[in-house]
Amino acid sequence: MRRCELSQSQLADLRKDICQLIDQLREDLAQAREQQRAELALVNMTQPVDSAEQANDSARRVQLLGHIQQLEGEVRSAEHALKRLDKGLYGECETCGEMIELNRLKANPVAVLCISCQSNYEC
Ligand SMILES: [Zn+2]
Repeated sequence: MRRCELSQSQLADLRKDICQLIDQLREDLAQAREQQRAELALVNMTQPVDSAEQANDSARRVQLLGHIQQLEGEVRSAEHALKRLDKGLYGECETCGEMIELNRLKANPVAVLCISCQSNYEC
């Protein structure tokens, strides 16, 4: 069965999108880590005043940590998609091997699963 391959220019566009995304994510990640460092430095400097404030601080740190982990995950998937692009596997669903719809790739250039595999995965 002949696959509907992406054209060179489509691939070049998608590669550009992914690279921009990675740059953007790395920038966000650097900022979030910087903020985390500042928060931690503050914790070491100040004595806890009251427990409500302390709880508030720790909730914020947990939220920040969650944000950092999410960004790290996004960078990993973007890099993963880029590697697949380099190997000529880009656009192929990692699970079933069918081509992922171009509209889906345009909306989400780091997608490595087709819609039906993705929905199975999420269920
Ligand atoms: Zn699939």
